Amino acid sequence: MSNVKEIIGLMDSPTEADKTLINKAYDFAQKAHDGHTRYSGEPSFNHLAATAVELARLGMGPKTIAAGLLHDTIEDVNIAPETIEKEFGKEILFLIDGVTKLGKLRYHGAERHRESLRKLLVATSKDVRVLIIKLADRLHNMRTLQFVPEEKRKRIALETIEIYAAIAHRLGMGMMRRELEDLAFEYAYPKEYKEVRALLTERTAQTMVHLEKMSRALKKELAKVGLTRFRTDHRVKGLYSLWRKLQRKDNDINKIYDIAALRIIVPSVEDCYRVLGMVHNLWRPLPNKIKDYIAFHKPNGYRSLHTTVFTGDGGIVEVQIRTEDMHNEAEIGIASHIFYKEGKRGDVKQSSFYWIRNLLPRFPQGGAAADTGGSRYKITKVPEWIEQLGSNQEDGDDYESSLRADFFSERVFVFTPKGDVVDLPVDSSPIDFAYAIHSDIGDHMAGAKVNGKMVTLDTKLHNGDIVEILTKKNSKPTRKWLESAKTTLARRHIRNALAR
Ligand code: MN
Repeated sequence: MSNVKEIIGLMDSPTEADKTLINKAYDFAQKAHDGHTRYSGEPSFNHLAATAVELARLGMGPKTIAAGLLHDTIEDVNIAPETIEKEFGKEILFLIDGVTKLGKLRYHGAERHRESLRKLLVATSKDVRVLIIKLADRLHNMRTLQFVPEEKRKRIALETIEIYAAIAHRLGMGMMRRELEDLAFEYAYPKEYKEVRALLTERTAQTMVHLEKMSRALKKELAKVGLTRFRTDHRVKGLYSLWRKLQRKDNDINKIYDIAALRIIVPSVEDCYRVLGMVHNLWRPLPNKIKDYIAFHKPNGYRSLHTTVFTGDGGIVEVQIRTEDMHNEAEIGIASHIFYKEGKRGDVKQSSFYWIRNLLPRFPQGGAAADTGGSRYKITKVPEWIEQLGSNQEDGDDYESSLRADFFSERVFVFTPKGDVVDLPVDSSPIDFAYAIHSDIGDHMAGAKVNGKMVTLDTKLHNGDIVEILTKKNSKPTRKWLESAKTTLARRHIRNALAR
């Protein structure tokens, strides 16, 4: 089990105050969850400590880590939000609250709702730190999925792939994405998992021999020109991503050249290009396989040089060349842009993309919460690739469309009691919801419940609301409904009904 020393040890130069905060949150969570256990039989608190360790590893600051420790206190052990606020302040409560709300969203596997659910998650989060806590939380849940009752595993695994790994990918968090996908794969597609694992095991042994040889040859060559400050490592392709690629390549593993890749990490961008030249001098590259993701990075921010070469002894291997910074960014993505520093928010660029602005921490400088001293988090710049998430670019992966800013500022996502997502324009009412479900339901609406409570029909719906429509055979639309109906669909039906 992780202890508080491990968490603090992973933090980047924490102050005394930071350590005090982490210790306090640790003790508070331990006490709050005392006597509670998980499916595995281990204390619930282990899950909180593991989540905090993951956040510290990602380089998150003390408030996010503290919120990670406390993220289940409101939902699971009924600690009052007021207590959290009194003990830990508004900002930490805000983060926990966000995570708790996300926990209520359920994935039901309907294809048409996937995209909405991902957007809803991002919209509901408000602050990218909430999403990162949720990802760390999910990661530990996936690591312990074998203890969860069997009938639940598949749903959770599919949700992890379709929703959480997809979001991690979009946020550039390559390591998180890979781990979530590979943990989920086994439970989501057991048969395919076994096949691909067998295939990969067979292939990996072969490829590793090539990689070792190449790595040695390259080191010698680089030393000749005085390049000694570099390191190499290999990465084996994730099982899930290999499976997806196999599907695109007629299930022929011989058409996949990046099962294993040699990575070369060098000090500067200039070195990247130098090393690429040397690699091509040593081994003949495959045509059309040279990718300069430094000059033209992927939409999620990924940067690297890629090339695929013949190893000379029958092998074909992908080589990836990058700097330490690029490597770090590729592994932890957006987390690498959230700095824990004393600082003001003045230099957060005004982006034209509302949605990512909404994901930036909202608290500094006496914003929504008067947190003593303001937040010490800042995103020093909005990286270009984040801005590009707001445009319509595709990166060829299966994330159907980008997370559009204007979209969020104009839509709300609400749920049917069964958990299906319905997206409506901002300021929509239960009337709009009813017609979005079915015109018959709209035409015979007698009342509405939002989150279990009866409401008037002109109530404005908010993100994440669960809406239930009550109908009566002899109910019908009135002129007054027109004032509360936002969608053209609802208005048209109401007018038709009035005309009858
Ligand atoms: Mn949790």
